[in-house]
Formats: sequence, C-alpha cells, structure tokens
Amino acid sequence: MFKRLPPSVVKKEQKLLEEIYSTNRFFATRCRRCGETYFPPRPICPECMVEDYEKVEVSGLGKIVSFTVIYEASKEFKDLAPYALAIVELDEGARGMGIVLGADASKLSVGARVKAKAWKRGDEYRVDFELVE
Ligand SMILES: [Zn+2]
Repeated sequence: MFKRLPPSVVKKEQKLLEEIYSTNRFFATRCRRCGETYFPPRPICPECMVEDYEKVEVSGLGKIVSFTVIYEASKEFKDLAPYALAIVELDEGARGMGIVLGADASKLSVGARVKAKAWKRGDEYRVDFELVE
C-alpha cells in the first residue's frame, strides 16, 4: 500500500504534490501510453513503468469507492491512527488512494462525497481527502 518507491521517483512525486500544494489547483496525471489517469498524480505509470504523462486538471471532488480503517498504523502514521484509508473515484474518473482526514470511521460509507486536500506533513507534501458535509 504505502510501498517504498525509489528515492528519485519519490522526489518527482513530491514535486507534483508540491505544485498542487502551492497552487491549490488539483491535477491528475494521465499516462500517454495506456491512458490510465492517476490522482494523486504519479510521475511513473505503475502499469507501463514509464514516465510519459500529461497533467489533467481535476476538481478534487469525488466519492469513496472502498475504504478500510487502520487501527495499527506503521510508525510513520501512528499519530493519525485510527484513520480511514480510502479508494476514491474523482468525478472526472481517476481513481486513487488516500487518507480520509479527520473522519469518524463509523460515519464513513461507500459513496460518501469527499474533496481532495493538499497538505504538508513534516517535509512531505501529501494529497489526501476530507468528507464533504
Ligand atoms: Zn500506463
């Protein structure tokens, strides 16, 4: 899930997320080879393993497709536990995974509306989600 990526890929990914954080405009990446769209954006398509993408502007609005509640988090995320990790489908169609920030897990449901949120955790730029009231 939070699989370790090579440092060079992490750096490129962080650059994309930093751009979202600093402009507060959301975009996904679409692989030019297979057409798959990723949000949060990914510099390398996990299917094709190539770095050949275009940016696609998205609203950041979507719905929860699936979620799980993490009670025993890894060291990195211990302070957030328990937290919900969700697969979100954006209104534009891209699917991706993120934490549903500040959500009471017992109130979550498949189909719940969420909005992406860019934030910084230590030195790390992240894009996760919040429930839309
Ligand atoms: Zn691809």
